[in-house]
Amino acid sequence: MPAEVPCPVCRLRHAWEGNPHRPFCSERCRLIDLGTWAGEGYRIPGDPAPHDESDSDDD
Ligand SMILES: [Zn+2]
Repeated sequence: MPAEVPCPVCRLRHAWEGNPHRPFCSERCRLIDLGTWAGEGYRIPGDPAPHDESDSDDD
């Protein structure tokens, strides 16, 4: 394992050894990857979710 690895979330290179949040650079990126922030106030107001209920394939 290399001494430094890129964070899968923010691509920031960080030390692998001694990092409690690895493979992420920080707890923040770990939470982002887990999707935790989706329920922690990160909302897109007025942005409709891309639901494909009426899936019209006009090919
Ligand atoms: Zn990161």
